[in-house]
Amino acid sequence: MKIARIVAHRVELPLVEGAYKWSGGKSVSVFDSTIVGVETECGLVGYGEVCPLGPFYLPAYAEGVRAGIKELGPHLIGFDPRELAKLNCRMDAALKGHPYVKAGIDIACWDILGKATGLPVCLLMGGRFGESVRLYRAISQQPPDVMARNVAGYRAEGYTRFQLKVGGDPDQDIERIRQVRAILQPTDRLVADANTGWTQHEAMRVVRAVRDIDVYIEQPCLTYEECLAVRRHTDHPFVLDENVDSLDMLLRARSDLAMDVVNLKISKLGGLTRTKQVRDLCVSVGIAMTLEDSWGGDVTTAAIAHLAHSTPEELRFTSTDFNSYVTVSNAIGAPQRELGVMRASNAPGLGVEPRREVIGPRVVEVS
Ligand code: MG
Repeated sequence: MKIARIVAHRVELPLVEGAYKWSGGKSVSVFDSTIVGVETECGLVGYGEVCPLGPFYLPAYAEGVRAGIKELGPHLIGFDPRELAKLNCRMDAALKGHPYVKAGIDIACWDILGKATGLPVCLLMGGRFGESVRLYRAISQQPPDVMARNVAGYRAEGYTRFQLKVGGDPDQDIERIRQVRAILQPTDRLVADANTGWTQHEAMRVVRAVRDIDVYIEQPCLTYEECLAVRRHTDHPFVLDENVDSLDMLLRARSDLAMDVVNLKISKLGGLTRTKQVRDLCVSVGIAMTLEDSWGGDVTTAAIAHLAHSTPEELRFTSTDFNSYVTVSNAIGAPQRELGVMRASNAPGLGVEPRREVIGPRVVEVS
């Protein structure tokens, strides 16, 4: 089996809430997502999706996905898409860095492997653990009372885990955490994600001020060293996200005991193959994980579901269903949230088929 063509489509994903806001005044109202198609000589086609959280979250931007595929694609024509380790070696040899460019191609090749073998991706990634995958809801940054109201609304829809976008004014953030926790049940999980937005002294103030509250602290500061300093002064469960962008960083953070939970995003790490490598190591050493991506629609949500469902339940902290945050459905067959959980499809591959009328014409074609 050989790769004959790699194509990309551009899809706009407007938000149900109108906008998504996080630390430092960053905001997105319409996400720019890329659906990647890998076509084989025998007619099998696999799909992936890459959707950066705007151009100012990770070192990634939407047009960069398409530009990168134009650069990388010609090096992959004629390769067997089922040989995923070999394919990733080829991608790394042809283009240094740029993991988010490689992610869509890698996901599409997992989809092909599933379709070629008749197996869902979660089975190929290790097996289906448990009945379903518990979801969190990201709560866009707003005044404290608005965020508490939004959490109550999503709780009524079945969510039991919430990730508050903080990383703004520390006094307001303390209030955000207090007001939201006050409306939750003891069994609900709350994460305060600062997305690198606090300086070290601000983070120290916040964690001390909420010391009596059951809350996880995620990525308080920009650098790993600042986060580590905060981690060493708090007994809140601690999550690292933006700083853990490679296996090397995971090993370093593990050696420093710098986190209790790590946030693994498929495009941040370069696809399902690389994320599986980090995921399996986390399972071996007992680090729990949020398994997700930077953003996306139905194809991304399907990939997240397969990654999460193939992860042992005790180390699966949360995942999220991005297709419920946006007003456009870009594929049929994707998991749909039901009372705060989702399930990976039993169909071969990712179990999704892009909607032709939504994804529009090819904006990149390499053959
Ligand atoms: Mg995060």
